[in-house]
Amino acid sequence: MAIPHMTPDEFRRRGREVIDWIADYMEHVEEYPVLSTVKPGDIRAMLPGHPPATGEPFDQVLADLDRIVMPGITHWQSPGFFAFFNANASGPAILGDLVSSGLGVQGMLWATSPACTELETHVMDWLVEMLELPPAFLSSGTGGGVIQDSASSATLTAIIAAREAATAAMTNRTGNLGNLIAYTSTHAHSSIEKGIRIAGIGIDNLRSIPVDAAFAMQPAALAQAIEEDLAAGRVPFFVCATIGTTSSTAIDPVREIGEICRQHNIWLHVDAALAGTAALIPEMRWINDGVELADSYVFNPHKWMLTNFDCSAFFVADRTPLIGALSVLPEYLRNEASASGAVIDYRDWQIPLGRRFRALKLWFVIRHYGVEGLQAFVSEHLRLARLFASWIAGDGGFELAAPAPVNLVCFRHIGGDDVNQRIMERVNKSGEIYLTHTKLNGELTLRMSIGQTHTEERHVRKAWELIREAPG
Ligand code: PLP
Repeated sequence: MAIPHMTPDEFRRRGREVIDWIADYMEHVEEYPVLSTVKPGDIRAMLPGHPPATGEPFDQVLADLDRIVMPGITHWQSPGFFAFFNANASGPAILGDLVSSGLGVQGMLWATSPACTELETHVMDWLVEMLELPPAFLSSGTGGGVIQDSASSATLTAIIAAREAATAAMTNRTGNLGNLIAYTSTHAHSSIEKGIRIAGIGIDNLRSIPVDAAFAMQPAALAQAIEEDLAAGRVPFFVCATIGTTSSTAIDPVREIGEICRQHNIWLHVDAALAGTAALIPEMRWINDGVELADSYVFNPHKWMLTNFDCSAFFVADRTPLIGALSVLPEYLRNEASASGAVIDYRDWQIPLGRRFRALKLWFVIRHYGVEGLQAFVSEHLRLARLFASWIAGDGGFELAAPAPVNLVCFRHIGGDDVNQRIMERVNKSGEIYLTHTKLNGELTLRMSIGQTHTEERHVRKAWELIREAPG
């Protein structure tokens, strides 16, 4: 049979329809209930049991987007989305991603699309300048940056690089881990534990270091745990500090932690997944104090920097251990450019071989907004978070549950867990906003994460109204 490819003309026509569909969505996103109300199985029940034997008209496919898919969407792009941490999107990022799909490039090697590699290296260097990160993270020095799919993957690669650095590259050879021990705080993200599992370190060898009253890692407790492990003949090899923990955006004291790591020659990885973006603003750069002591660092432009998921920026101060740990060179990938040593092959900087042209969306975002536009965007969220925190602090029925150094406000009603649970359920059921919870000091705590692309003061005011009315 003739293969029913879409012709360029048809693509042009349908492409315009799809862009219109997305633009309409952006325009009306506020009108949808933020949290999807479907029940498990509802979406599948609307789908045919078998794939179509012959191609269907595109109109039908588009119509089913509205009929089947939209009811099952939780609207991350709604200005009323205050849950988890945001995954904010923007026009230029969507268009950059579209171009990436259109080019269909797979950038595993420099040679498989030089622009894919070089643009990525370049925008990663731009990020170092924009956030005033340590110069060692620049590609012109010993280190450099790479775009990965997620902070979880970036942290896993950091653990593997650290593992090989600590065992003189022998773990990759013999599978024998020795006696490696990793450290992070009790408030670190679950991706650290996942990475420790995947890298074969074993969770019994991951020490959870206690936190202080502000939920930041206690360096003295870290130092003590390291001493105990050393005394027992074990090998401390990896510490993960967090700038902006998931529960409460606590900022670990990276400088003190880094000094301890230097003293014992331990790899320091810094996870700044959400909060890293705040360093766009000079007054917020204190959060990165001590990052120059880090061996690796990750933050997610796909959370708060207007770059559609997925785009995680991972930097190393020295690329040699990373590449040494991950590079495998089969015959079929050999090529002149790689052999010359003059190019970067990003396949050696990540877990998968293949890679998308993600730099395009980041490049579009940075060029469209400019540094000043991005700074203004982040500043406004910081202002809104401070405003919301001031309302909580000034209301006798509620209390702040943690410091709010960035754009997340942790708070609770003073009536206890059941009341807070009820507040969360009620406000989420309203469809106007969506917020989620954590536990701090064992108490159910509500999290107001203010980082959506189109969130304005009126949305935060509306949220506060709903929250205040909810306990009654
Ligand atoms: N680290 C921290 C501090 C996070 O808050 C998160 C997600 O919220 C992650 C890591 C995981 O991010 P990703 O989904 O990119 O793996």
